[in-house]
Amino acid sequence: MPEETKQKDGSYRQPKPGNKIAYPEAVGYVQNQLERYLRSRAIDTSRHFTCINPIHEDHVGSMSLDIARQKANCPVCNADYGIIDIIAIEYGLGYEDAIERSFQIFGLNVEVETYPQTETLEYGYDTVDSASPIDAGHYNTATGAIGAFVGAAVGSIPWMFAYNYGWYVGFFGYIIGYCAIRGYLMLKGKPGGRAVLIIIAAIVFGVAFGQLLPDFLMIIKMVGNGEIAGARYSDIFTLYLYLVSQSPSYVSSTIGNLVLGLVFAGIGTYKMLGNMVRMG
Ligand SMILES: [Zn+2]
Repeated sequence: MPEETKQKDGSYRQPKPGNKIAYPEAVGYVQNQLERYLRSRAIDTSRHFTCINPIHEDHVGSMSLDIARQKANCPVCNADYGIIDIIAIEYGLGYEDAIERSFQIFGLNVEVETYPQTETLEYGYDTVDSASPIDAGHYNTATGAIGAFVGAAVGSIPWMFAYNYGWYVGFFGYIIGYCAIRGYLMLKGKPGGRAVLIIIAAIVFGVAFGQLLPDFLMIIKMVGNGEIAGARYSDIFTLYLYLVSQSPSYVSSTIGNLVLGLVFAGIGTYKMLGNMVRMG
């Protein structure tokens, strides 16, 4: 006889070592061990911790434990993981194999004859797919692209401030890269090779935007103030090219900024872009 582990209040008590228990009881028990499992991973569940989603490079600690739902939730990337999801990610397993591994982790002796006969598992989980950190149905490359470009534009704001103050701006490419990826994830962009191309395009756009917009704004302001005789707003591109042709040092410093900006953006993002390719 399997040991009866479910309590009247619906909680599960620790099965006695060596005693056989039925599969549904074992899954129910494991499902309620998320806090204990995270603590065994040296994660302080009393505060926010680093997101477990491998494609979310979380520097600030965005994930928190929802003990009532037995889920680890991240509002940045929308990860909402139960303990089996986390074991599946950590050990690189499919969902059913992750359940099996959880029995080993918690030392549960589960009766083989009580295992489910079908593919469908009914103990609180939707489908086997829910174990995957990438649930393809929830991701969309187009919205992610919008997020990446908006993120890159927002991320170029510090660059523009630095440029106006005459600071060294190349480093601010790092922020543009970070914001492009964050924008892509926030609007649920789908991971994969295409994601990387979109994010790189967004970073190039963000760096160019941050570098060139202040110069164009300055020309627009000069035209508006009538500082350039006879110039109209429709002439600003011609005026820019004229200023460029008159100042080799402007050209070299602009190209230098663009290249260094892209290098720093690359330093800030290459790891995560690599993860995105692998997860795609
Ligand atoms: Zn996350």
